[in-house]
Amino acid sequence: MCNAAHREPLFNESSSLITKLGLDNKQVGLYHLMSKFYEIEPNLENYWRSIILFGRNVASYKFALAKALYDLKDSGDSVISLEQLAVPFSRHIAEHLVVCDKQITSASSKFLDGCRDFNAKQINQDALIDLTVQLGFNNVLDAFHNVHEQELPVRFFMDERKTKGGITLTDNFYRLGEQYQYDNLAAETESRWRLVETAWELNLPKHLIQVDYKEETREFFADNKLRRVAVTAASPSLNGYQKGRCFYCFRDISLDNNHADFADVDHFFPHDLRKCDAEKPINGVANLVLSCVDCNRGVSGKFANLPALPLLQRLHDRNEYLITSHHPLRETLIVQTGCSTEKRQQFLQDAYNCSITHYGFNQKWQPPQQGIAIF
Ligand SMILES: [Zn+2]
Repeated sequence: MCNAAHREPLFNESSSLITKLGLDNKQVGLYHLMSKFYEIEPNLENYWRSIILFGRNVASYKFALAKALYDLKDSGDSVISLEQLAVPFSRHIAEHLVVCDKQITSASSKFLDGCRDFNAKQINQDALIDLTVQLGFNNVLDAFHNVHEQELPVRFFMDERKTKGGITLTDNFYRLGEQYQYDNLAAETESRWRLVETAWELNLPKHLIQVDYKEETREFFADNKLRRVAVTAASPSLNGYQKGRCFYCFRDISLDNNHADFADVDHFFPHDLRKCDAEKPINGVANLVLSCVDCNRGVSGKFANLPALPLLQRLHDRNEYLITSHHPLRETLIVQTGCSTEKRQQFLQDAYNCSITHYGFNQKWQPPQQGIAIF
């Protein structure tokens, strides 16, 4: 460990709201983060993301439903019968069962057994669709718009099973499809799904799962000491929290590697920090952000510079988001950076001080802002 001789001031302490309202830490943190997520830029993409990213999961069905809705967007029908919905919905579940047999936290499910039978060619697609219509949508259609036990103020479909035998896609859903970020949402959903099912499948105490980033393939690796598995591409997992913007300058970024705005995965603290402390999880998710190319390696790019202090606060806020959202990387972040907000703050502060002490970063790097500050 290195001792920091030079000390930057600590972050501003958060307000004493906790005391004023008599709420516990967790409640306040949750409220604050959730409302911040909504109120700064309450757009459709961010409401949709809150469905995919937030909340504890007991089954992967909401991911399958989201993916089914992406598939049906261009079908031309705003009323989708359960039979129609069952086709892509069951296909996504069946495909995921091949990759990971654990799709629910409870021990068994007749619906999942049916999907397994379909994969084993023991039932045909018609039988699978019938079963899906009967059992596959229990809870998921009712609960889809609930985030942290609250109904979102916008709906992407109306549940009209009783009157129309299906759901009706709303204008909000079509408008979502027209947003710049829409193309990233499918990748983010898939990425989140892979993380959730991997966490279930490893089925070990969560604190044993370390997730590291592998530069060459831009992937997260889960390491449970027994085996090391590629979990998912890193970028989609990180993007939801940055709302499709560069972490540093807020410019729009893309997850499509053919796109001019294709995002870099950037290490907030430079690689050299490893020399201070081999244990510093420089490849841990706590230190990874998505950045535009200009910020990462453009003419006035960051390269191995140390970001300015307000950006350190932003990194801390981002990490707290990941933790509060019950993201599958939550436990990893806690293990790597500390079990309380204060400890995590101190962890980042120590890394910051360490960088300054050893590398003498006099000029802190911060790019000009290229868009509204939405996080
Ligand atoms: Zn940028």
